[in-house]
Amino acid sequence: MSDNNTIAYSNFIQDIITDDLKTNKNDGRVNTRFPPEPNGYLHIGHAKSICLNFGLAIQNKGICNLRFDDTNPAKEDVEYVDSIKEDVKWLGFSWDDRMYYASNYFTKIYEYAIQFIKLGKAYVCDLTADQIREYRGTLTEPGKESPFRNRSVEENLDLFERMKAGEFKDGSRVLRAKIDMSSPNLNMRDPVMYRILRATHHRSGDDWCIYPMYDYAHPISDALEGITHSICTLEFEDHRPLYDWFLEVLDFKSRPRQIEFARLNITYTVMSKRKLLELVKKAYVSGWDDPRMPTISGMRRRGYTPEAIRDFCERIGVAKTSSTVDVALLEHCIREDLNARAQRVMAVLRPIKVVIENYPEGQVEWFDAENNPEDPNSGSRKVPFSKVVYIDQEDFCENPPKKYFRLFPGSEVRLKHAYFIKCQSVVKDDKTGQIIELRCTYDPESRGGNSPDGRKIKGTLQWVSAEHAVDAEVRLYDSLFTCPNPDDSDSGDYKDNLNPKSLEVLQGCKLEPELKNAKAGDRFQFIRTGYFCVDSVDSKEDKLVFNRIVALKDSWAKVQKD
Ligand code: ATP
Ligand code: MG
Repeated sequence: MSDNNTIAYSNFIQDIITDDLKTNKNDGRVNTRFPPEPNGYLHIGHAKSICLNFGLAIQNKGICNLRFDDTNPAKEDVEYVDSIKEDVKWLGFSWDDRMYYASNYFTKIYEYAIQFIKLGKAYVCDLTADQIREYRGTLTEPGKESPFRNRSVEENLDLFERMKAGEFKDGSRVLRAKIDMSSPNLNMRDPVMYRILRATHHRSGDDWCIYPMYDYAHPISDALEGITHSICTLEFEDHRPLYDWFLEVLDFKSRPRQIEFARLNITYTVMSKRKLLELVKKAYVSGWDDPRMPTISGMRRRGYTPEAIRDFCERIGVAKTSSTVDVALLEHCIREDLNARAQRVMAVLRPIKVVIENYPEGQVEWFDAENNPEDPNSGSRKVPFSKVVYIDQEDFCENPPKKYFRLFPGSEVRLKHAYFIKCQSVVKDDKTGQIIELRCTYDPESRGGNSPDGRKIKGTLQWVSAEHAVDAEVRLYDSLFTCPNPDDSDSGDYKDNLNPKSLEVLQGCKLEPELKNAKAGDRFQFIRTGYFCVDSVDSKEDKLVFNRIVALKDSWAKVQKD
């Protein structure tokens, strides 16, 4: 990991680790893990967990494992495994040779279950799922013991073995931990450890027809890998006594400590994998990597940088209480990063033709244009100028309001890096009244865009020479949802808050010739417009497609200033 990947986390989890290191707990080892379930693509919430787990390992000279928590074969798939690996790597983290699967431990997890039975700490239960729920009781009422709770060890061993052998129907029996049906913590009321489920697992195939539950498999996987700090999100806080109980009964020598933190929520975004899957399956978006998705693959395709995402994860910090982060902060981080390194170019998204009447026909001048004023080493490039150029429709107004500094009949503006031009007349279509072109004159003395006589020009516009222009499709993205909390809807369906205008596709955009050689994933600032990235899926040699990463206007910086 390079230096600029180092994350300086100071938070309550780091405090715990610092204390543990002081007392030489775990012999001074720090071993975290990132444990995704391969049932969907990773999203920005996972990025927070990745940055936290790998970041804490790095800064404490420890290690972080990647572990696929694949105990639920019905929803899991290798496609997800592959995407998760790609995303973690892209974010800049490495698990070296420590990639594990909970499914690799199925045999051990099964043997431990037998140990629980032998210790009188687990039993096979024949109640139906509904009955189990009914017997569990509520927060105010204790649960009732299952009539199967006091089966003998021999009977339990026999039944469990036969569960594994496939003698019983799916869902007809479970193995349960024997803890305490009157515990104030519902998770401790004889939770299910194993269920019968005939589903083909993406790795173990049809080897198993019983699968361990997450709450049971997770602490064991952690312990087997020698995890020291098992970091998870807040909803597992009430599960921690159970996590500890499983490891206590098995008497593991070194026991991982579960630590919970608040999951990340972002405004105008949904983050549940179930909902993201629904958006993909029902084609509300073009796929998991649709640039509007909060997935890491979507953000990558949109043009977000791993550096900006890591910076964001660092800035939001780690808390013990849930909150929602303003998406403007994420966009601010992207802008800051791209401002420092994205090459500036000129692009006209909604072109209108400008004919410069007094400019010699056939003449071409090449002007110097700086690549990035923020980066002294970025150099410059040449931009061609000729008699016919395009400017953006937004930069012309026939009947302008007061203080309009862009182009209107009679006004003078600067074409960046080139000349001052003055609008002389507007040519319209006789029938439709639509503007066809603007007739302008230029001041030959203003070469390079410099004032010849000290006269001040307030408007500076980007432009592209018509005969040199490169055509492109540009996709403008807005947020996928129209309200800050998409889950707030009268009908209870977050999809009612989908933004019908989240994607606007512009054809026939005109770009300066420099962009002819742009490659998939290349990022630019289109000056005065925003940051854009060559789409990695749809852009082809004969048809450039750009995604808008983010517009220039920074609402976060503004909020901070006010
Ligand atoms: P989802 O609710 O989206 O299905 P999950 O927690 O079931 O998420 P996992 O694949 O199990 O998804 O998550 C892997 C790790 O990422 C877990 O440790 C989980 O706590 C963490 N994680 C998931 N979502 C977030 C989030 N929004 N913020 C922070 N961490 C998260
Ligand atoms: Mg999970």
